[in-house]
Amino acid sequence: LNAKTPRADQGKFDIPLMDAKPGQVVTRFPPEPSGYLHIGHAKAALLNEYFAKQYNGTMILRFDDTNPTKEKSEFEESIKEDLKLMGVTWDRITHTSDHFDTLYEYALQMLKTGKAYVDDTDQMTMRDQRMHGVASKCRDLSVEENLRRFEEMKKGTEFGQTCCMRAKISVDDPNKAMRDPVIYRCNLTPHHITGDKWKIYPTYDFCCPIVDSIEGVTHALRTNEYRDRNPQYHWMIDALGIRKVNIWDFSRLAFVYTLLSKRKLTWFVNEGIVTGWDDPRFPTVRGIRRRGLTIEALKQYNLMQGASQNTLLLEWDKLWALNKKIIDPVAPRHTSILEDHVKATIVGQTVELHAKDLPKHKKNPELGNKKTTFGPVVLIEQEDAKSFDQDEEITLMDWGNAFVRKINKDASGNVTGLELELHLEGDFKKTKKKITWLADTPDLVPALLFDYDYLITKKKLEEGDDVKDFLTPVSEYKVPAVCDANVRALKAGDIIQLERKGFFIVDKEATIADPIHLIRIPDGKAGSIA
Ligand code: ATP
Ligand code: MG
Ligand code: MG
Repeated sequence: LNAKTPRADQGKFDIPLMDAKPGQVVTRFPPEPSGYLHIGHAKAALLNEYFAKQYNGTMILRFDDTNPTKEKSEFEESIKEDLKLMGVTWDRITHTSDHFDTLYEYALQMLKTGKAYVDDTDQMTMRDQRMHGVASKCRDLSVEENLRRFEEMKKGTEFGQTCCMRAKISVDDPNKAMRDPVIYRCNLTPHHITGDKWKIYPTYDFCCPIVDSIEGVTHALRTNEYRDRNPQYHWMIDALGIRKVNIWDFSRLAFVYTLLSKRKLTWFVNEGIVTGWDDPRFPTVRGIRRRGLTIEALKQYNLMQGASQNTLLLEWDKLWALNKKIIDPVAPRHTSILEDHVKATIVGQTVELHAKDLPKHKKNPELGNKKTTFGPVVLIEQEDAKSFDQDEEITLMDWGNAFVRKINKDASGNVTGLELELHLEGDFKKTKKKITWLADTPDLVPALLFDYDYLITKKKLEEGDDVKDFLTPVSEYKVPAVCDANVRALKAGDIIQLERKGFFIVDKEATIADPIHLIRIPDGKAGSIA
């Protein structure tokens, strides 16, 4: 069901959907409330919303809450907030647990019609039998015995807990997903909504097709690693004689050096390796937002991937490069100088302390002006100062040219002081070095510039790899600096460019006591803050 019939009316991404009638399409985004949304979930949510909008249909936000051991209400709230943050809207919210009574009735129906059985084979043996296509000893139990056993499961008795219910599809189908999959399990953990009403829970394989069918979903979007399970999905619907659903599958998002599994991300949070689910090193919606990824870039990127069926290991660079295109035209320009700076005195003429209004962005006057202060002493980066030759003509950005008349160095070669002679009529096109500088005034804003590395050192963790063996020893860097006084007015979430340093997002505003925290936004090119 992955027809690629292009349609004319599908907007700029042009992703086709099979059998879609305008006004009648119903999609659903079904997160399990067991963690925060990551960029992979974002893709799924955006695609579901895209099709619902494209066909004037509806989108259901369904909390797929069938495993009480992992799920919490807290995660439902965060998922809703993150979707709102992405501008994703839904028409209604449902829970798989809304349908537990119905699902139970369907389970009984399966038992009564001989399409399922209750198996007390131990897990190891069951795995082995499925692998080798061997029938379970319980496969041909009578309906009465199956019903009796299911009742024990429902009550959570000791025997019941050793059982699971399996659909009777095939013992040895070449597609292993068809080998009598488990459809109900015992779990005595209270559920965050239904409490201790149930001691049995349907598996994804059972409830997904049924709930899709009864909620009116017309197109169920799934990542294509489930493709082997598509026949099983259709089998459940046929076995129960309920309304059919189209499956549309798309490739799972995967990035280099990145874990996209709630279970693994939870481990990082619990170990205290990251500061929380919104850590800027995390691929969560909150983490990448905090790192300066715009929702616009996230949307464009995910819809560009669109209908692609290839699960590539993506580089982050393209996403960040796309983001840069979006922020570059609108990010105000500011200046910062690392704390380890050099004081340069202007010689040969008297420069009074004075200020000028200059545009925040030379190509975007809409952003307004900022105050640039000029004075008799300016701060310059140590690295720049070290590169100067005696009497070299350089350009002080937004001011003009100057000759380097004196360079004082200490024994280790660090520059301890400079003397510059202004040459404002000089041609800035003729100098090699355009230097950032800040007048030495008391109103400069102390800053901490943050930059991050990947959390893991291996491009792609394989099954069996232990994350612990691949942790990046240091993945957070921070460098103290000072910024121009205008930076004091910035608010958390504002995105700016620090001249010659790159784009930054305000993580924490400046206060009287504390420096502003600025996080470097990757721009798709190699490089870092220091
Ligand atoms: P995890 O393994 O991280 O718990 P999951 O796939 O079990 O992820 P769900 O909450 O069940 O997480 O996923 C909700 C939806 O998001 C599903 O439709 C799922 O297919 C989709 N999804 C999850 N991860 C990705 C991904 N990396 N790329 C694309 N879609 C994804
Ligand atoms: Mg899941
Ligand atoms: Mg998963």
